[in-house]
Amino acid sequence: MEQLRCSGLFDARVPRYTSYPPADRFVAAEGKLFQQDWLRAVPAHEKISLYIHVPYCENLCWFCACRTQAADRQDVVSAYIDIIQKELAQVSARMPSGVRLARLYIGGGTPTLLAQPVMDRLLDDVFAAFPKAVGFEGSIEIDTTQVREDLIHGLIARGMNRAIVGVQDFDPNVQKQIGRRQSFDQTLKVVRKLRRAGLEFLDMELLYGLPSQSSTSIAETTQQVLAMDPDRLAVCEYVHVPNLAKRQIMIDARHLPAAEDAFVMSQVARHILVSDGYEPIGIDHYARPDDTLVAARNGIKLQRDFQGYSDNASYALIGLGASAISRFPQGFVQNLSATSLYTKSIRAGVLAGHRGYAMTHADQVIGKMIEMLMCQFRIDRTAMLESYPDAERFVDTAFRNLSRIYDPYLEITDDSINVKPMAHPLARMMCYSLEQLSTPA
Ligand code: SF4
Repeated sequence: MEQLRCSGLFDARVPRYTSYPPADRFVAAEGKLFQQDWLRAVPAHEKISLYIHVPYCENLCWFCACRTQAADRQDVVSAYIDIIQKELAQVSARMPSGVRLARLYIGGGTPTLLAQPVMDRLLDDVFAAFPKAVGFEGSIEIDTTQVREDLIHGLIARGMNRAIVGVQDFDPNVQKQIGRRQSFDQTLKVVRKLRRAGLEFLDMELLYGLPSQSSTSIAETTQQVLAMDPDRLAVCEYVHVPNLAKRQIMIDARHLPAAEDAFVMSQVARHILVSDGYEPIGIDHYARPDDTLVAARNGIKLQRDFQGYSDNASYALIGLGASAISRFPQGFVQNLSATSLYTKSIRAGVLAGHRGYAMTHADQVIGKMIEMLMCQFRIDRTAMLESYPDAERFVDTAFRNLSRIYDPYLEITDDSINVKPMAHPLARMMCYSLEQLSTPA
């Protein structure tokens, strides 16, 4: 702890690097400029992933920084899905035929707000536009406080096989402080229904660093979650940024734990999960030893993405819906964020991409090194130069800079930089240092 404190971990404000560059660096109108060309450049017969954003929730939890808005009227949600279907048609019309769907992720917001017939027509349209690839995986975020049984059966009948259940912390006092009610019993009931209906994979998400949370409450929640036998777990840090996520103003900052106490909570959860046989994945995920994420990590195929970590090597991720982000090899495109503007654009037959980022060669090189650090806690020089043969001087500069700043935390060989296990929590800070490098030679 003393070493981590001295390294500045508890004062650092650095990105989570679910993308490089992070979304707050996207440039206005740059996505609009490139979206059409990048869609057209997807090679026929490639595999893609699709993300569909449903920005509505019945109640807005105070801690949540997702792009969501309150709505409990089915006609509002249904009209929004009509627009998503139009966008799907516009996007797929610009791509070559033969493209297959490797992954579908429906998130939000609360996708389980959709009535079953509305969800059915959405999924039917998606699979008509992009037939499922071999090994297809369909994921959906499930709000256990309001999901209906007919929706569960409809989802599984259409091939959605992974559920993501957010828990945060089951302690009622913590939940009161974050404006969310979700009991263990109710969550367990829904998880059992999902399993009985034939769900293949269950992911669960916890947060640490919440108001009035303690090592005891996170330990109890972690044990309770283990009783539901998830395949994967994300244990992520709550970041209090009421200037950016306005609803966090509702949270009484006086009850927030100190950064060091929050870190201890993350280690308590880690200890319980690892003792139970889960394998750590990257900075904040865990998976059963037979999970494909573990195989991807061991085979150096793990990838960082907006949902955390993935074993999926799709050519591109296409985002549909207000604020959704698409990732292409050439860069990023983010749709208009305001639902009204997004809707207006799609109704007018105009692609909704707005903000974005066209990757330079330097960005590609930095992004690759950041992904190696976030996924493997090492940078492999040979692998870097195989991908970017002209970046030798740049990679060597990166090695020198990292070793100068973080020497006690690294094992350095001629061919690699390896972060020592005790320094894994510093990985994001090391990535931030990489960002400060100049343009590659
Ligand atoms: S945590 Fe889920 S239900 Fe709560 S506001 Fe965020 S997306 Fe909506």
